[in-house]
Amino acid sequence: MLRVAVVGSGPSGVYTAQALVQQSRVPDVRVHVLDRLPTPYGLVRYGVAPDHEKIKSLQSSLRAVLEDERITFAGHVEVGGEGGLSPARLKELYHAVVYCVGAAADRPLAVPGEGLPGSFSATEFVSWYSAHPDAGGFALRARSAVVVGIGNVAVDVARILARGAAELRGTDVPRAALDALGASQVREVHIVGRRGPSQARFTTKELRELGALPRARIVVDGAELALDPAFAAPPDGPGAAPLPAVVRRNLEVLRGWSAAPPPAPADGQERRIRLRFFLRPAELLERDGRVSGVRFARTVPDATGGVRDTGTYEDIEAQLVLRAVGCRGTPLPGLPFDPVRGTVPHAGGRVLRDGVASPGEYVAGWIKRGPTGVIGSNRSCAKETVASLLADAPLLTRREVSPDPLAALRAQGLRPVEWDGWLSIERAESALGRSLGRGRVKIPDWPGLLGAARGEGGL
Ligand code: NAP
Repeated sequence: MLRVAVVGSGPSGVYTAQALVQQSRVPDVRVHVLDRLPTPYGLVRYGVAPDHEKIKSLQSSLRAVLEDERITFAGHVEVGGEGGLSPARLKELYHAVVYCVGAAADRPLAVPGEGLPGSFSATEFVSWYSAHPDAGGFALRARSAVVVGIGNVAVDVARILARGAAELRGTDVPRAALDALGASQVREVHIVGRRGPSQARFTTKELRELGALPRARIVVDGAELALDPAFAAPPDGPGAAPLPAVVRRNLEVLRGWSAAPPPAPADGQERRIRLRFFLRPAELLERDGRVSGVRFARTVPDATGGVRDTGTYEDIEAQLVLRAVGCRGTPLPGLPFDPVRGTVPHAGGRVLRDGVASPGEYVAGWIKRGPTGVIGSNRSCAKETVASLLADAPLLTRREVSPDPLAALRAQGLRPVEWDGWLSIERAESALGRSLGRGRVKIPDWPGLLGAARGEGGL
């Protein structure tokens, strides 16, 4: 029997487990999917926006995988970190370990004032409204918010800021976040890119969604769009390299908004979303010990796809600043790490130690290839890793490993939350929602989650 531990139960971990049990090359495989949290699904639970129900519904296909009898979910098991299991210990317990630990760190802006109160990473904000048990709180007393970055995370957080509580009541947003969003004073949300619209990383569906928000008015500055060479003169002529489809569609949406802004809501409760381009954050401004705005350097295209500063600046007032400038992997003690790429060095998913493949250690997902692509990209990524693992299986299974790794973990004091515990959390979240007159509502804290996993909570 081949015993494999998959570390991380987000999409890459679950697709890895699925690829392991769906192949016929090694018939007898058992997979333990470990997670630091007592809940499965990683960023599908704690990253996908609550109003993206269709993407959230992916949970049902991930659930079907984790319910396979050859796969065991074991949450509340930390790997790495202080007091967590080490890669060496996992190697003693399993023939192979696949690390699917994602990209846990936010990229900094590296500008003065970044640490001021009122300045956060978008991940902190997403974690809060997604009920991550390590998240802090947000009061949303700001009238103006700046979101730095023009990727899909920027669009997600701007959209949630522009929605009212009534629009989110039907989602699983936790109680405190729904109340705070309901009482939010935010009326202006500036989404700001350092480069132009043709270099934006958001996808068209997500961009269009902003225009469909019931209470938001979209403001696009035509002069900034015109700075973009692809916007001003689309390369349509003979011999011109065509724009990627997503860029063409994004430009069409932005052109449309610039020519005819979507109608403002009639109820006077409007929130403006301003899409801004060619502004590089230079400094976060301070008043009374808190962030009061962002000073941006005006940029222009440099003809090579980048931008250069023009020497002029623009200040945008903001009492809330969210930096949505991407994330990167973090080193896991005991595993090699490439600090430049923020990933674990690998060849076809095999972890490389000093450039040499380390039998029995693998990576998949964002810690392997960096934080790119859509959820489905993890499927092919996992398949590649599993193919390498299966090719190594004859060698790996020669080694004796623990016949019952979870018992070994319990014996060393860990208290894994297994599938029954997760089902118990799900029931408690449904009961919490019923008690609030809503659908399922997420439990946002460790005591609540662990209590619910043990069947406590009195709900
Ligand atoms: P992203 O797509 O890499 O976008 C990061 C943005 O930050 C870019 O606009 C980038 O501009 C900008 N940026 C980076 N460093 C900066 C700096 N120092 N100053 C100013 N701007 C800076 O990252 P993401 O939005 O975090 O998304 C991560 C992944 O998750 C993506 O694959 C995304 O599609 C996916 N995702 C998808 C959805 C969805 O499908 N609904 C939702 C959320 C996330 P430059 O291009 O100039 O570097």
